Formats: sequence, C-alpha cells, structure tokens
Amino acid sequence: MTGFDALVPYEEALARIVAEAEALRDRHPTATREVGLWDASGYVLAEDVVADRDQPPFARSAMDGYAVRAADVTGSEARLKVVGEIAAGQMTELTLGPGEAIAIMTGAPVPAGADAVQMVEKTRRDGEDVIVNGPLTPGHNIAPQGEDAQRGQVVVEKGRVIESLTAGVLGSVGASHVTVFQRPRTTVMTTGDELVGVEDTPGPGQIRDSNRRTLMALLEREWSRVVDGGIVADDLGETRRAIREGLESDVLVLSGGVSAGVYDVVREALEEEGVEIIFHKVRIKPGKPLLFGRHAGGLVFGLPGNPVSTFVTGLMLLSPALRVLGHRPEHRTWYVRVPLVGKLPATGGRTSFHPAHITLGDDDRMSVRYHPWHGSADQFSFSRANALIRREPGEPAASDGEIVRVAIPHPLASW
Ligand code: AMP
Ligand code: MG
Repeated sequence: MTGFDALVPYEEALARIVAEAEALRDRHPTATREVGLWDASGYVLAEDVVADRDQPPFARSAMDGYAVRAADVTGSEARLKVVGEIAAGQMTELTLGPGEAIAIMTGAPVPAGADAVQMVEKTRRDGEDVIVNGPLTPGHNIAPQGEDAQRGQVVVEKGRVIESLTAGVLGSVGASHVTVFQRPRTTVMTTGDELVGVEDTPGPGQIRDSNRRTLMALLEREWSRVVDGGIVADDLGETRRAIREGLESDVLVLSGGVSAGVYDVVREALEEEGVEIIFHKVRIKPGKPLLFGRHAGGLVFGLPGNPVSTFVTGLMLLSPALRVLGHRPEHRTWYVRVPLVGKLPATGGRTSFHPAHITLGDDDRMSVRYHPWHGSADQFSFSRANALIRREPGEPAASDGEIVRVAIPHPLASW
C-alpha cells in the first residue's frame, strides 16, 4: 500500500474501500429481520423464496376461445358442438368428448379431454356449434401446469431487491412475510468552529452547515439508516468524544478537519480512538484530503469539508461502501462514453470529476456538456449538474465531438 502521505490513485482507493467493506460485511454478517410484504419495498431479500405450488397451478388457457381436441381440428375448419363454458376461477366436471368444444376464458383450467385452445378470433359461432379454424396441434394456447415454476423451485433469489414486480412474484407464492437484510447504520457528523445549523443566522465569519444535509440525503438514498451526529468543534477532546459515539455505527462519516490546517484534528482524534488509518489523500479532484480508516466494528471516512469535495468523495468513494454493506446487487459506478458538446479543460495530475450536463436528444443519443464552476466551495453551480465527466491524470483538453467518459452512479433500477 502507498505510504500515508503519497496520493493514492482513485482506483486503488476505491478497490481498498470496497475490499474493506466486503471484509466487514463478512466479518459481521448483516443482521436480518422479517418484514411484511407491504413494507418490504427497497429491502434486499436475505433468503431464497420458493414457489409454494406449481405455477401455473393447473394447465391454463392462454386465450379466450374454445378448448378442443387437436385431433378433431386437422383441416382448415372443423365444426364442433359447444357443450359448456369455463370462466377464470372455475373448475369444470366436464370431460371433453370427440367432436365437442367448450368455451373457455383466459386463465381458466383446461378441461379433461381437451389438448388445445383456439382463440375466439379464429372461430365462428353457429347456434349450438362452433366453426374452429385449423389445423391445430396439441398444446396450442395451453400453458402446462408448472411451466413457469415448479413447487419448491426458487423464484426470488437471496440478494434481489424487492420492488414492484419482485414483490408481486413474492405475493404470488404466498410470501406475505420475508426475511430481509437490515440497512447498515451510518453516523454523520460535521466538524468546524465556523459552522452553525441551517436554521441559525450565521455571525461574522460563520457559515451554515450544509454538508450534513447533503450527506444524510446521499446516505439515505444509499439505503442506510443515518444517525445525525451534529456539529463538532475543532477541538481534540470534543472530536474524540463525538468519534467514540460515532464508532458504534457500521460507518462513521466526518466532514471537514482532514486537511493540513492547524485546526484539522480529525486524523489525530481518530488515531487516539483506535482507528487505523488505511490511507489519507487520494489523487482526485475535487476531494484530495480524503481519509479512510477502519476499526474492529466498522469503517471511517473523513471527507474534506468543502461542499463539492464532500459531495464528490461521498458519491464516488463512500456510496460504493454503503452499497456493499447493504448487500445491494451492484456497488460499482457505471460509466458511459458520450460525445462532448463544447470544450473541456486539460486535466492536471489527478483523476478529475467535472460537473456536467448530460442530455438525451430526439434521436435517443446522449451528449454531455461541461458545466463551468468556481472550485470546490461552489456547490451552487455544481448542484445544477446532473453527471460527472471523469478524466485521468494528464489527459489533454477535449474538444467538441470528442467522446468522454461520464459516471452514472445509480445505474440499475430494480423492479
Ligand atoms: P475543512 O475541510 O474543514 O478545512 O473545510 C474546508 C472549508 O469547507 C471550510 O472552510 C468551510 O468553508 C467549508 N465547510 C466545512 N465544513 C462545512 C460544512 N459542514 N458545510 C458547509 N461548508 C463547510
Ligand atoms: Mg474545518
């Protein structure tokens, strides 16, 4: 591993964070709980759920039409005698004999003796009889019992996110209560003598603590239970006390106090509280002073306090750890390659995440435009962006039409 004071390349930092999150998850298997299906949306299933009976549970008609014997409909038309009707939800005692047809609705059980269904659009009623177009082969428009799932077969695997259709599948097999993984717990605290609450009026030299709001929202979206650790003064004793409490969560996130200033006491306080610093300073822009550590019960992130640095390191390095701990099916940030509209400045010595605007044209093609900003304190400009263009150290300026790499942190919708 790179020494503490060298800059760790972004990919190396990310890989280390993910590995530590995986080790923590496996060391302290995430608690599970039972939830009712109506309250399960968004949770990750912690058990395989099996079909309680065959699906479909009986040979069912796939169409509104007539149940027939295929052997009776070998030519282009056959005249059959209609002997009954079966609606969805009904069973019939009737057994279909030679030369007979039974009107049947979609989803109804196919009667004994029938082996095909002709759709109503390909039939013509004539009094007691029906003229059925053919020829038909056995099995036509019939879904056999157990075709979709057999009793005892896994229908929703452990690790899948419960959303709309997944929840419906669980409901179809009677899983009215399911075992899910607990959401990992995160404590968020901000450090800085200059900070006041968002509801307070800042005095001279003071600013409002916006990072705590940003981070708590980001972490909730990453499916974490977030504990509000409040504002902590730039004081070693107070920081240590706050950290001690925060270490009870799976992940402790601090904002500010990790740069090189005299009042940046976070690293020292963490070390004195027994946190092992894994790295401090990453070769990224914004967000270079990022600190990452661990202790027996969890992970620790010290994010640089400038609002844009906090946000970008939160999105690009902290969020993946939360997804791992939360057993989410994908922890990676996805990238797409998109043509640039306008220009992008040359990249310095660090992997850079530029605010950008990605748009979808009428032709379904995406394009991306660099969004000007004033540096890592400028959350106002950055908040209007909707994507990040990623550039590697030393990449030259990019010009109009060039393909650039755009980060999509939340790629996978579940259903
Ligand atoms: P630091 O990383 O502690 O050196 O903070 C760098 C700068 O970020 C500070 O001077 C503040 O202007 C700003 N900052 C720090 N913490 C916050 C916060 N919680 N909310 C908004 N801005 C902050
Ligand atoms: Mg500070």
